[in-house]
Amino acid sequence: MHGKMMQWPLLISSIFRHATTYFADREIVSVTADQPSFRYTFAEFGRRVCKLANALRNAGVKPGDRVATLAWNDHRHLELYYAISGIGAVCHTINPRLFPEQIEYIVEHAEDTLMFVDPMFRDLVAPIAARTDSVRALIILNGDAAETVDGLATSNYEEFINCEVDTFSWPEFDENQACALCYTSGTTGNPKGVLYSHRSTVLHALTVTTPNGLEIGMDDAVLPVVPLFHVNAWGIPYAALMSGAKLVLPGPRLDGESLYRLMDREGVTLTAGVPTVWLGLQKHLQEYGFELPTLKRMVVGGSAAPPSMIEYFEEQQGVDFVHAWGMTEMSPLGTVCRLKPAMHLGSREERTAQKTKQGMPVYGVELKIVDDDGNPLPHDGEAMGELWVRGPWITSGYFGDPPGTVEDFDREGYFRTGDISTIDSDGYMRICDRAKDVIKSGGEWISSIDLENVAVGHPKVAEAAVIGVPCDKWQERPLLVVVLKIAEDDLSLEQMREFLTGRVPKWWLPGAMEVVDALPHTATGKIQKRELRQQFADFCFE
Ligand code: ADP
Repeated sequence: MHGKMMQWPLLISSIFRHATTYFADREIVSVTADQPSFRYTFAEFGRRVCKLANALRNAGVKPGDRVATLAWNDHRHLELYYAISGIGAVCHTINPRLFPEQIEYIVEHAEDTLMFVDPMFRDLVAPIAARTDSVRALIILNGDAAETVDGLATSNYEEFINCEVDTFSWPEFDENQACALCYTSGTTGNPKGVLYSHRSTVLHALTVTTPNGLEIGMDDAVLPVVPLFHVNAWGIPYAALMSGAKLVLPGPRLDGESLYRLMDREGVTLTAGVPTVWLGLQKHLQEYGFELPTLKRMVVGGSAAPPSMIEYFEEQQGVDFVHAWGMTEMSPLGTVCRLKPAMHLGSREERTAQKTKQGMPVYGVELKIVDDDGNPLPHDGEAMGELWVRGPWITSGYFGDPPGTVEDFDREGYFRTGDISTIDSDGYMRICDRAKDVIKSGGEWISSIDLENVAVGHPKVAEAAVIGVPCDKWQERPLLVVVLKIAEDDLSLEQMREFLTGRVPKWWLPGAMEVVDALPHTATGKIQKRELRQQFADFCFE
C-alpha cells in the first residue's frame, strides 16, 4: 500500500522560493573584480535570478541543455546556479585551473551551449568556445562592453540580463532531472562528468545543514572558500540559502590576508575549504597574532588535514575544526568528523587523534571496506581496505557513458571510491591513501598520508609529500619530499628520521628525503603525486 502523501518534487527552484520568501532581507556579500565589496539581499538576488532565467529562455536555452560557467565564488555565479537549474537546464561548472586541453575536452564532451566566463578567463576560453560547434555565445561576467570573438555572439552579463522582467514562473518537472554537471579532475585518463539531479542535490543540501553534517542555520554567516566549480562548493550554495544563512563569497583572492579580512569584516561563523587554503590562513594569523572571534566552525576536506593544523585552530583559535570527506561522484559529502559526546571528555591528544579521521557517514551514505577479493573487513580501526559507498546522492554512472557501464560498481550497488581506509569500532572512517598512492613495502602497506601528517609536524616543515619509489629489496620505499618554512634553513634526513621515530612504525621511516622550494598541486589544491613521481622518476635507493 502506498502512503497518502503529496508527490512534491525536490527541485532547486523550491530552495530559491523558500530563501527569497522567508529570508528576503538576508545578505549575500561578494567580491568581484568590478565590484570588490558588493552586497545585496536575498530578495534582490531573487529578482536578478528571475531576470537571468528570462534571458536564458530568450537565448534559446532549453531543458537539459548544458550551460557552462568558468567563474569564482561571487554573486553572479550564484545567480547562474539558480537560474540555469531552475529553468530545467544543467549548470556545468568548469574548473578554470585545468589545462586548456582538458577544458576543451570537457566543453566538447558536455556539448555546452552558452558559456559564462569571468573576465580573467576570457582569453583562455574565447578560442575554445569559438572552436566548439555546440557553443553559441560567450557571456563575460561583468558590466563592461564585451569585445566580439570571431564568429561568436559575445555580451556582458549585465547587458544580458538588463532588459528582462524580474519575475519568473518556475516550471515543475521530475525531480530526477539533471540540474548540474561537474567533471572530476581526472588524475588518470580524461575527466569524467558527474551529473547531479535536482533530487540528489536537494537531499544532499538538507544533509549539509544538519547538526551531524556542516550544521548551517539562519544565525550563520557562511564563507565557502571551496570553489563553486569544485563539486558545487560542497553543497553550501544550496544549504546556505535553504537555511537563511548569510553567504559571503570571496571571489578570486584566497590568500590568508584576504580571507582573514573578509571573515573579520563579515562576522563569518562557518567556513569550508581545502587544507592548502587553511595553511595560508594559519600562517597569516600566526604572523600577526590575529584571532577569529566570530568563527565557530571550519570544515576541511579534499585532502587530509595534518594534526598540527587541527590543533592550531582548535586550541589557539577555539574553533571547531571539522574534517569531512567526499568525492565529486558523491555530491560530495560522505563523512563528517563530529565527535560523539563521550569523545569530548577525552584528552587533547585523544580528541585531536579522533579529529584527524575523516569521520562518520552522514545518514544517506553507506560505507564498506573490503580486501583485494572483495570480502568485507572488520571495523576495528586497523584493517585497511578499499572503500566502497552507496546512497541517493552518489553517482550511478558517468555522463555520456553507455548504459550498463559497470566497472566502478559492484553487485550490491556500491561505487568504488579508489580510497584505502580503515573504519573504527565507533564507525569513524580514516582515509589512509588513494589506492594508487599507497606504498607497498615488503608485503605491507604504508599510508603516505599518515607519514606526511607526522612529517609536517616537524617545526621546520611547511608542507610534506610522500611517494613510493621502487626498491629491489622491499618492492617500494617511501621518499619524503618537504618544503621548509624558512627556505634558508636546513634539515637532514637523519634529523627527520629522529623526529619520526616513535611517531610512526620503524619500517615506515623514509629511506630518503628531498627538500624542494614548492610542491606541485592539482587544480583542486591537492598534492599532485603523479607529477611528483615523474619529477623523481630517476630516483633510486642505493
Ligand atoms: P578530484 O577527483 O577532482 O581531485 P574530488 O574532490 O572528487 O576531486 O576528490 C576526491 C578524493 O579526494 C577522495 O577520493 C579522497 O581521496 C580525497 N579526499 C577528499 N576529502 C578528503 C579528506 N578529508 N581527507 C583525505 N582525503 C580526502
